[in-house]
Amino acid sequence: MPATQKITPGRLYIGGQWTDAADAGTFTTVNPATEEPITQIAAGRADDIDRAVTAARQAFEGAWGRLSAADRGRLLWAIGDRIESQVAEIAELESIDSGKTITEASRVDVPMAADCFRYFAGWATKIEGETVPVRAPCFGYTLREPLGVVGQIIPWNFPFLLAAWKIAPALAAGNSVVLKPAEQTPLSALRLAGIAGEAGLPPGALNVVTGFGPTAGAALVDHPGVDKIAFTGSTAVGQEIMRRGATSLKRLTLELGGKSPNIVFADADLELAVRGASNGIFYNKGEVCTAGSRLFVEESLHDAFLDKLTAFTSRLQQGDPLDPKTRLGPQVSEAQMNRVLSYVDTGRQEGARLVTGGTRPPGKGYFVRPTIFDDVKNDMKIAREEIFGPVLSVLRFRDLDEVARAANDTPYGLAAAVWTKDIKKAHRVARLLRAGTVWINTYGLYDSAMPFGGYKMSGFGRELGHHGLMEYTQTKSIWVDLS
Ligand code: NAP
Ligand code: MG
Repeated sequence: MPATQKITPGRLYIGGQWTDAADAGTFTTVNPATEEPITQIAAGRADDIDRAVTAARQAFEGAWGRLSAADRGRLLWAIGDRIESQVAEIAELESIDSGKTITEASRVDVPMAADCFRYFAGWATKIEGETVPVRAPCFGYTLREPLGVVGQIIPWNFPFLLAAWKIAPALAAGNSVVLKPAEQTPLSALRLAGIAGEAGLPPGALNVVTGFGPTAGAALVDHPGVDKIAFTGSTAVGQEIMRRGATSLKRLTLELGGKSPNIVFADADLELAVRGASNGIFYNKGEVCTAGSRLFVEESLHDAFLDKLTAFTSRLQQGDPLDPKTRLGPQVSEAQMNRVLSYVDTGRQEGARLVTGGTRPPGKGYFVRPTIFDDVKNDMKIAREEIFGPVLSVLRFRDLDEVARAANDTPYGLAAAVWTKDIKKAHRVARLLRAGTVWINTYGLYDSAMPFGGYKMSGFGRELGHHGLMEYTQTKSIWVDLS
């Protein structure tokens, strides 16, 4: 039976129960490849957020909070196992809801989510305090404690994987969670809630409230019972959350947009760099916060590189995301498709040269052809603003200092890459780049153990790895008089 026939209308997951929104409101989630509705989803609002926060607090102060670290680890491991045993089904849900290809969903997103739960399962028993050599005749030590109730708000580009990146470390450290997925892609987070329940997670430790940003999301940010907000999404919404969160002085981590430079020197391995440039911008149809959307090519290599990249791009199969041969699915929504196409118009008006793409293929679905602009200047809008679609800007450079300066000339600082066979040059450039991640002779690698996050207006705080775990803890200092 195809996954769509098994999808029941989405309800909220609060306190271990499936429930309708308090006002019985719903919205439709759409398959962006067919433009057909998939199912109805509960539209949670402030009342529902309040119920979820109450359930999360009860869990934190009750059964969940009393579990040993070893038992928390065991539960997280069990969630990872269950995800792994359902890869095909979850990947199909994710593909139908987001337009992501089944190949990417089943080989990357879902297995990495399982790995993330297992990685953080291992950390649960390794969150240690310190003994501190204080001056007074006292014994001083620290405890690393959970924050309490954590609100997590995620976007639509990696719905299942980003849910795992947020939920796993928060639970490993002993927090309870209220997650709000993006309105465009709620299905896989609801499936994850079901999996967590089946694995035996105590009721209330994880709650999922679907709904819209300005209602459900804002209510989570405003709620005085929420100790921290972890957010991934646009810089504008991140700024709004920071302003609103000030009222209750919420802990905050923000993973925001990017306009990442991908730098190809003339001495790079040409075939690898072409593939890296293409994957850098066209992976997940360009809906990637670390997309290598500004491609800097050394002047002497420029023409040959662009020819090869254009030929490579013309071979990428675009179409039905459920076809294993497809490399490019549709944009997540009609609104996102229109946004991307309007940036194509902007690029033309600014005088960039359209090399390929720039249009919508005929037929159903919110597809945009893979698009390459050459002769882009770094001060053009298409080089400055995050497009979040399959649109590449190609720029030229002459030397290392010039390209490092131009690469850093952006408000963002999420990621960057450099392609060269010269090891000294690679590391010199990596140090000069103001970005949270730098890839050398590769692009878009992630690992549950490697910290990930932004510099500058790409946000602050880190996800994954030991750094990501620590963002969900706070330090208590304890003094014992020994005199
Ligand atoms: P967005 O508006 O920032 O949405 C991200 C999440 O925040 C969604 O769950 C959204 O809910 C929620 N949200 C929206 N307004 C909120 C508010 N006032 N308070 C609390 N939560 C709120 O991003 P988007 O509209 O989906 O995409 C717009 C642009 O953001 C993209 O084109 C791209 O440039 C950027 N983006 C960046 C990333 C990244 O990984 N850094 C990911 C996705 C998008 P609803 O969606 O339900 O309204
Ligand atoms: Mg959808």
